[in-house]
Amino acid sequence: MDYKDLANLIFPDAKEVSWYEEKYPKRNLPEGAQVVRYAPSPTGFVHIGGLYQSLIAKKLAKQTGGVFYVRIEDTDQKREIENGVEQILQALKDYDVSPDETVNADGSDLGNYGPYRQSKRKDIYQAYAKKLIEEGKAYPCFCTSEELEAIRGDQEKAKERTGYYGKWTKCRNMPVDMAYEKIQKGEPYIVRLKSPGNPDRKIKHKDVIKGGIDFPENDQDIVIIKSDGLPTYHFAHVIDDHLMGTTIVTRGDEWVASIPLHLQLFYVLGFKAPKYAHTAPMMKQEGDSKRKLSKRKDPEAAVSYYKEEGIPRQAVMEYLMNIANSNFEMWRKQNPDKSMDEFPFDLKRMGVSGALFDMVKMLDVSKNIISKYSAEEVYEAAYSWAKEYDSELADMLKDKAYSLKVMGIERKNQKPRKDIAKWSDMKDSIIYMYDDKFLNSNIVYEYQKITDKNEIQTIVKNYLENYYDEHDDKQTWFHKMKDLAEKMGYAREVKEYKANPEHYKGHVGDISTVIRVSLTGRSNTPDLYEIMQVLGKESITERMKRIV
Ligand code: GLU
Repeated sequence: MDYKDLANLIFPDAKEVSWYEEKYPKRNLPEGAQVVRYAPSPTGFVHIGGLYQSLIAKKLAKQTGGVFYVRIEDTDQKREIENGVEQILQALKDYDVSPDETVNADGSDLGNYGPYRQSKRKDIYQAYAKKLIEEGKAYPCFCTSEELEAIRGDQEKAKERTGYYGKWTKCRNMPVDMAYEKIQKGEPYIVRLKSPGNPDRKIKHKDVIKGGIDFPENDQDIVIIKSDGLPTYHFAHVIDDHLMGTTIVTRGDEWVASIPLHLQLFYVLGFKAPKYAHTAPMMKQEGDSKRKLSKRKDPEAAVSYYKEEGIPRQAVMEYLMNIANSNFEMWRKQNPDKSMDEFPFDLKRMGVSGALFDMVKMLDVSKNIISKYSAEEVYEAAYSWAKEYDSELADMLKDKAYSLKVMGIERKNQKPRKDIAKWSDMKDSIIYMYDDKFLNSNIVYEYQKITDKNEIQTIVKNYLENYYDEHDDKQTWFHKMKDLAEKMGYAREVKEYKANPEHYKGHVGDISTVIRVSLTGRSNTPDLYEIMQVLGKESITERMKRIV
């Protein structure tokens, strides 16, 4: 009995690895083109960090004329959630980071290097595991969980590293005949790597983001094929990244510690290792300290949150780009109208330690983006959000012609309004423009300086009867406001008032505030003249009559 017999017994049907090497030839791409992947496990809701990873991977691929692909890492089937893959694919689509190659929602594959789901690649992993067994570089291990527990207990007692390595490896040197016999008898087993590493030796790794890091060599005989015949993540990713032609692995830095193992696997399998770029996690400020953005504690960790809140896709992605490369903010200022695709992203500019994820900042980015939308774009986006999440708003927006006018307020000028960050803000910021909502509500008038009821009534009455003319242009309108102020003992100009406050009851601003509040209930609104243009005479008269 030799290794070959043992390998044949374990994987009788496995093909020669050369079959796969021919099936998946080296990609024919120009020099410098990067093949980058996003390799999620479908084990929970889609995390904002997943979008971040896909954005980086896709950007890198596109920028170099390479390929961005998605590989679903679903070898841990116990942890898999229902619809996990569909949710991931949908999120990538919603946020416009669709891959060039991927498994599709219907299970079919897009691309020549599939299947793009690890659970469909069992035969491939087994072929390579078989080769390693034939070469004496991997072996079956029959240790039961009780035996492994006992080894761990002994290691802890002896204050030694835990794990399956060196002198603790019960099955590593088992004679082939014995292993053969056990398998024939039906004893359960898994397959382990026979690690060639020595922890007294160091390996030097150069991470694209983190720079040079030295590690002791790996000496753990890790599991490569589990008892269900599926590979472990470590083994699978190495084979996949090799066959799929990945040139650079971008992934979260929780994987840095696995580098010695992963590089060893590439070496043992005779593959060229890709480059690695480990990204720092997104952090959240909590009091004086920072912690990782948490799936459990932070609603904004879930990609679904942004859709529910109505934060535009572009805002989410631009904010993520900001976190990835902090110079993006400056670039955006200098290139307000360019597509983000033109931004020269640089992996080396990514932070080594965790970047702060700040919702206030994201909403700021969003306000800027929405301020550039046309009324039509605001309308379309808000309406489609409302149809899904807010039926009252959807109802209001059914009147498209009127709503477009409302959305158009302060949108055509040099300094467009920047008060809307998300579609869930929309209802509150426009509800007073809709007569049936405003007039039928319990209006709380937020008067400011002038609070005397009689004075307010006199101002409003006077304005409506003697000064308001729906045909006035903005200048005439404003002039009339000043005339009214003067007539009622208020200064025409704020500075006149400031120079001689004792001469006046107040100034034109106080008068226009009364008009504003009487029409909208609010003291803070976009441009009053534009609001009045949109409301129109009938509504204005109706609203003012409520006051007098
Ligand atoms: N499947 C791994 C995860 O979801 C990805 C690790 C990698 O990108 O290599 O964390």
